Amino acid sequence: MQYNVSDWITRLLEGDRAALSKTISYVESQRRDHREFALEVMQGLSTNAPDEDCHRLGFTGSPGVGKSTLINAFAQDFLANNPQSKLAILTIDPSSHRHGGSILGDKSRMPDIATNPRVFVRPSPSSGALGGVNRNTALVMQLLYLVGYKELWIESVGVGQSEVSIADLVDTLLYLTQAEAGDGLQGIKRGVVETADIVVFTKIDDQDDGLTREVMRQWKQAMSLHQHESAGWDIPLVRTSANNHLGLDRLSSSVSQFIQHQFKGGFKEARRNRQRKARIRGLAEAALLRQFWEHPAVAKSIEAISRSTLSEEAMHKEVLTLIQQFKD
Ligand code: GDP
Repeated sequence: MQYNVSDWITRLLEGDRAALSKTISYVESQRRDHREFALEVMQGLSTNAPDEDCHRLGFTGSPGVGKSTLINAFAQDFLANNPQSKLAILTIDPSSHRHGGSILGDKSRMPDIATNPRVFVRPSPSSGALGGVNRNTALVMQLLYLVGYKELWIESVGVGQSEVSIADLVDTLLYLTQAEAGDGLQGIKRGVVETADIVVFTKIDDQDDGLTREVMRQWKQAMSLHQHESAGWDIPLVRTSANNHLGLDRLSSSVSQFIQHQFKGGFKEARRNRQRKARIRGLAEAALLRQFWEHPAVAKSIEAISRSTLSEEAMHKEVLTLIQQFKD
């Protein structure tokens, strides 16, 4: 690397956005020298101070549910209500179905905030897991925190096989859904109620709509059977219309109440510990799997075992032998 670490750190601390973008690219790079440089820079920035003052907010939901439109509107309120704060937004780019390249795409997806000097928007590739966070996301968030972004938002479709889940990265997770007929109970998938802190119904341009009320009633009923990980928290259901700027105050106060609840009950640290464990586990599993599949004996043996006329039980035995060979 042709750059000097301490000069680079100075640039970052001076708020040099180009240097910040480049550092993120180094964190995400496949090249070892890039990653090592980024890690060295991060170590240099690190103060070992507790990051109590950092809030990580996640937005998850299917493509098209209205994540970027809501972020665009919600961020304007956030900036107006917190005139001293800076905001960093990471969008995990499901590259395959977004047009015009990531950066242009995000400029047009969040037109009112993308050029605001207090906002840093960064689209990151989802590296295989369609729209999901990846193993670098936690590092990128930490980097943003170290250069002074205390409010970090992350947008992810939240599906896909990935080492890390958005639920293992954020302090507050918003699950976005549309109130559609028949969607009520089907929409409540196990993973959703187990991880969401607040459920947001999007595109409710008419807040008195009867169908919305009915769908929300069904959700409320189904959610009442579920116990949130932080005792005493009833997951709020919030109706919003980003287009008409409705329900955003309620969303904002639900987020504040959740932060308070976590703080008072000592739940924030417990969650972060659980998340760290989940991330370590995810990273270790992924690294092991990669090693397994890259092992020269593995591909050959699997091909041989699958072609042979072995009985099911003999095949199981062969697989155990193969794993033993890999371990040795
Ligand atoms: P994402 O893929 O989840 O980020 O969804 P987008 O934010 O790109 O929104 C998908 C579509 O829904 C776009 O055409 C938006 O204009 C539209 N949309 C988003 N929010 C609203 C809303 O509050 N009301 C209405 N009527 N349309 C909305």
